[in-house]
Amino acid sequence: MEQLPAIIDYPDGISVIDARYHRPGRAAIHLITEGDKAALVDTGTRFSVPGVMAALAHKQITPEQIDYIFLTHIHLDHAGGASEFMQQLPNARLVVHPRGASHMANPVKLIAGVMAVYGESEFRRVYGEIRPISVGRIIEAPDDTLIELNGRPLRLLDTPGHARHHYCIHDARSASIFTGDTFGVSYRELDANGLEFVFPTTSPVQFDPEAAHASINRLMALRPKQAFLTHYGRIRNLLHHASQMHALIDAFVSIVQQAAEIPDRQPFIMKALQDFLWERLTAHQCALTRDAALSLLQTDIRLNAQGLEIWLEQTLRQPDQVAG
Ligand SMILES: [Zn+2]
Repeated sequence: MEQLPAIIDYPDGISVIDARYHRPGRAAIHLITEGDKAALVDTGTRFSVPGVMAALAHKQITPEQIDYIFLTHIHLDHAGGASEFMQQLPNARLVVHPRGASHMANPVKLIAGVMAVYGESEFRRVYGEIRPISVGRIIEAPDDTLIELNGRPLRLLDTPGHARHHYCIHDARSASIFTGDTFGVSYRELDANGLEFVFPTTSPVQFDPEAAHASINRLMALRPKQAFLTHYGRIRNLLHHASQMHALIDAFVSIVQQAAEIPDRQPFIMKALQDFLWERLTAHQCALTRDAALSLLQTDIRLNAQGLEIWLEQTLRQPDQVAG
């Protein structure tokens, strides 16, 4: 018997299932249940699939009852498990941003891009096999697509900033938004005094600060009372977090701009991000030591530093296009 992953149930048929990505609490797969139908939001990797299938069985949801798999975007910690889930969930259709759909149908370029960064053996260890998904089962979701899950309206909004192939889902029933990576990341280990700590994820290669600000404003205009983040689970206090996200996006941009003249930028950006985040975590009254907190955030800080430098290089090459 497959061991059950951590599952947290919330009202309105929403559950957070741990994706077992690197460590517990790092990536979530969200389940939305409406009557006798259900949908998944994001998929983790193919190694997340057995745990989720066990979680569904535990909830007495059959594979046939899953109508949709929503991919907020096609980064592989969100979409890497999609092809395996599509094999196991015979009635599911995959809902993807138009910029991501062709990569799900033909993942050759997507795989090559990630392998170029991690190397083949690390890719296989973390992501395993990724197979093409039949075009007939893919729904492309342009901005403002309405999908009804057994009559429950779910509205998909184009939200670039973290990636250009990103949408978020608004669920009016629960006044929730499912934000993928658009509303940043927030690990439960960093909660303090009932307040979450949220920070932007600027991972390669499409970070766009202007778009990121606009997407946050667009989500907040829906007046959501809670957000479900892939990294990780439910957060509330959204007015506070939205203003923090705006401030931190600007702070990250200013950090990387200070690095413009430095020949070996990565170590400088990494150190500056570590110092900055630790300063904010101290103000947040985080209970972890500096070492524990920074080791928890190590991968995010490294990816943020890489993505910020790529953005900087683009602005240095095309100052006019990015300045506006
Ligand atoms: Zn992402």
